[in-house]
Amino acid sequence: MITTQDRLLKKITIDDNDCWIFNGSLNENGYGKIMFNGKTWLVHRLFYKEWLGDIPTNQGVLHTCDIRSCCNPNHLFAGTQKDNVIDMLGKKRRCEIIRNRPPRPTSLDGIELLTYILDNWTKKNGKCLEYKFDFSSHYPNIAYKSKTIGLHILVWLLHTDSKIIPNKHFVMHQCHNKACINPEHLIIGTNKQNQIDSRSYSLNTKLNLESVQLILQEALLIDFSVRGVKTKFDKYFSKKFNVHPDTISRIRRKELWGDVTI
Ligand SMILES: [Zn+2]
Ligand SMILES: [Zn+2]
Repeated sequence: MITTQDRLLKKITIDDNDCWIFNGSLNENGYGKIMFNGKTWLVHRLFYKEWLGDIPTNQGVLHTCDIRSCCNPNHLFAGTQKDNVIDMLGKKRRCEIIRNRPPRPTSLDGIELLTYILDNWTKKNGKCLEYKFDFSSHYPNIAYKSKTIGLHILVWLLHTDSKIIPNKHFVMHQCHNKACINPEHLIIGTNKQNQIDSRSYSLNTKLNLESVQLILQEALLIDFSVRGVKTKFDKYFSKKFNVHPDTISRIRRKELWGDVTI
């Protein structure tokens, strides 16, 4: 007999971190959703229930791995929203970014260098291959032939076997994920295309009323007098919503979206 668990296991892929990534559709916050026995479920909650039992009243199901589409019961725990925020700000994450990338073998170039970079410096996130180390600038950079260039530019050059980027052209992300260096997601275009592209993107997926409310709600739970917490908070939400940390800071201080109430 096919059990509920068997049915659910058909809908996931297990990744290198042992995350059970849901293959179906995600809601706008990145959580998997599913129709199951006539009811719409957030997938990680359904997995919690099926493997670990009933979810305690008034508690959320949270991730130790920070991967919202993950539904490995071993990565799930029940807690309050406050636990989630404390968890997010207070402790080292299991999937934390490794700060320093290993030096690349200097003998490599061309397709070998590309393979080395993709194999050793990235982690999968959906179809994206994200640079897995910390980077402080807008895009991850790399020193190549005595210049510093965006890693995505190098990947595009190596992948297309090109020597230079044509005049007035830029390497752009079709996936809008600046950390992604999946060659399949990189296209070349003019600056004008890039601007139109990022403008339509910002209209669609950057901050909206809901995300601003979420930021303000979570800000209420935080003790910002603790040193470093402001920066961490701004950085966390800037990553989450793909905006500059300063934007988050201005939302917190009600300089932007000042009319939003929660
Ligand atoms: Zn996980
Ligand atoms: Zn991508």
